[in-house]
Amino acid sequence: MPRTEPIKAVRGVRDVLPRDRAAWRAVERSASHTAKRFGYQEIVTPIIEREELIERVGSDTDAVAKELYRFEDRGGRKLALRPEATAGIVRAYFEGGLNQGPQPARLYLLGPMFRYDRPQKGRYRQFFQFDIEAIGSPSPAVDAEVIEIGQGWLRAVGIRETDLQLNSIGDAKCRPAYLERLRAYYRPLKDQLHGDCQRRLETNPLRLLDCKVPQCQPFKEKAPRITDHLCDECAAAWASVRRLLEAAGVGYVLNPYLVRGLDYYTRTVFEFYPAGAAGQQDALCSGGRYDGLAEAEGWPSTPGVGFAGGIDRVVEVIVAGGQEVIAAPAAEVVVLADAGLEVEAAEVARICRQARSTVADYEPRSLRAKMRSADKVGALFVVLLSADDAAARKCQLRHMATGEQQSVSWTELPERLA
Ligand code: AMP
Repeated sequence: MPRTEPIKAVRGVRDVLPRDRAAWRAVERSASHTAKRFGYQEIVTPIIEREELIERVGSDTDAVAKELYRFEDRGGRKLALRPEATAGIVRAYFEGGLNQGPQPARLYLLGPMFRYDRPQKGRYRQFFQFDIEAIGSPSPAVDAEVIEIGQGWLRAVGIRETDLQLNSIGDAKCRPAYLERLRAYYRPLKDQLHGDCQRRLETNPLRLLDCKVPQCQPFKEKAPRITDHLCDECAAAWASVRRLLEAAGVGYVLNPYLVRGLDYYTRTVFEFYPAGAAGQQDALCSGGRYDGLAEAEGWPSTPGVGFAGGIDRVVEVIVAGGQEVIAAPAAEVVVLADAGLEVEAAEVARICRQARSTVADYEPRSLRAKMRSADKVGALFVVLLSADDAAARKCQLRHMATGEQQSVSWTELPERLA
């Protein structure tokens, strides 16, 4: 039986159509350009990883608990589609021997991530990230460097006004005592918190600080702040990061409620928002230090810092801002031939391609319709081919902007189009 319904895309994923690619490409190019300018090299890791790798490093985040795409392959292996890039990059850093090279390894990655999130505007099940990771250095200067890359990227795509939110969440030395303080503060208030927060109070109290539910908000202000309870090393790193950002002219806002829910995150956490939009919408970029991650994956303890930038989000912001992204023409030259001249049209197109991108229009329609379509693809030149011209291996070369038209021999085309 033939199907009656056409087969549509999977829920929560989308196509990036050619008309939208110009903005995407501009965002991706700025990402790799900015990364390279800071000495970061591109890495490509697989989209599939062992489920265990992802679960081990993220068992209490939403991205893993509820949103992981898990599947079994034909060999019965338990695999996952990566929900973020860091776990895979840290794995590759050790497996590929980058830990033996100059430290820190400065790496960037552009690619799709997958989360079984509730689809809505700005949230997709396949989305794209620009990921920066510097692995192998505990220096706060590298934290500041990574933040500078984030700002540099957003500036390069034209998002000049951003809010950078900054916090420190300490480390394995000072955080446990702080968490006890936080629990002690919240315990008498437990009944007034929403369900998830009541549960988190014992399991993951840091997350009480970034809860967005209105009934939990009034208690935050008086909650103890972790930056008042850092150990000496974390306090020194915290002061250093801020000093370095100030010296780099990177403005920031201290946000004591910016946290991460996993133990392997340490010290610096940060997020970039479009100016004035912090807390009201998704971050453009979020990152921080993860000195405990390598160990959580079973490798020797190794410090690291990085961020993930949301390419979908950044594209949406620049498109909404009406920023003009010059779309490259689909073809710079269009060859329009009379009916029956397909072979000749293909040959002329092949010649034109030596100089510029070219398509031949083989559709059986009027010359006027073909000219309109050449204009739409953004063609700079049209090559008109009649049977008489073709017999003499000539054509009419029309410059679209001026309307000027000349008879030209085929062999002259590359030079005339250059
Ligand atoms: P995260 O890895 O959750 O810290 O997210 C890093 C960035 O990726 C965010 O700032 C968002 O811009 C983007 N992002 C995260 N999840 C999604 C999603 N489901 N759809 C689109 N962009 C996302």
